[in-house]
Amino acid sequence: DLQGTFELNNGVQMPYFGLGVYLSKDGNEVINAVKDALDHGYRHIDTAAIYNNEQGVGAGIRESNVDRKDIFLVSKVWNTDQGYDSTLKAFEASLERLGTDYLDLYLIHWPKGEISKETWKAMERLYAEKRVRAIGISNFMKHHIEDLLTTAEIVPMVNQMEFHPYLVQQDLVEFCHKKGIQYEAWSPLMQGNVFDLDVMKQLAAKYGKTIAQLVLRWDLQKGVVTIPKSSKKERIISNADLFDFEISQEDMNLLDGLDRGQRFGPDPDNFDF
Ligand code: NAD
Repeated sequence: DLQGTFELNNGVQMPYFGLGVYLSKDGNEVINAVKDALDHGYRHIDTAAIYNNEQGVGAGIRESNVDRKDIFLVSKVWNTDQGYDSTLKAFEASLERLGTDYLDLYLIHWPKGEISKETWKAMERLYAEKRVRAIGISNFMKHHIEDLLTTAEIVPMVNQMEFHPYLVQQDLVEFCHKKGIQYEAWSPLMQGNVFDLDVMKQLAAKYGKTIAQLVLRWDLQKGVVTIPKSSKKERIISNADLFDFEISQEDMNLLDGLDRGQRFGPDPDNFDF
């Protein structure tokens, strides 16, 4: 169901379906998106300092009918704030903007070489001090994770990656799974491009579902957390209506087979800071 969870390596339950708010404008747009999502069963909101909408996310939470403690709230430390002291500071600034006194998950937004090890030390401290219920990474390829683990005391609970039928990175999914790192999809709808694919149109029609419902259902059946973005109420509600059908193994394989290693976002190995 919409409030179902995957268990993280520290026992925390992470709702496997959430709302992404990248490009949802601060103010009414993001406030209404968050409120509409929460009032229609979502319990997980994904923001980041760089999205410039944490204030609106906080307001949307307060205006909704759902208690803060029942919401899984995620934010991320931006590249220019990486490092030990600056991460601690960035965390406090995010809390302040969100109007809350803890996060459910705090992520390193992008790997940034050696300094990310210092960032991780700060994340570990925030976790030890119970300011955050789980800590994780985003856009970490296998070599970034292996490098981080040479100095990490805590294995990240989550890795949030670009993930959709054109970019599966199954080796990385399995590597994370073996390490106890929950895989999470960003841009699960290919930033809107998934709606143009004929194969998706055909498969969605076969199940009598929308393309969004089909591709998001594929995420969950693969054990991947997913956070589709929309600021339109009808889409927010309809995207989450994916618990009344199951994709057959044959069609799961078909969807997996569309992989062509194609990114719609930046490449973590060549990201321009
Ligand atoms: P997405 O794949 O969720 O696609 C969003 C686009 O699809 C929007 O243009 C929206 O209007 C459209 N859309 C949504 N539902 C639709 C529907 N039912 N029918 C037609 N169109 C629909 O793209 P995203 O926002 O890039 O990714 C989702 C979330 O992942 C973000 O909001 C953000 O929270 C997170 N994210 C994280 C990173 C990272 O580096 N960690 C990077 C990008 C995104």
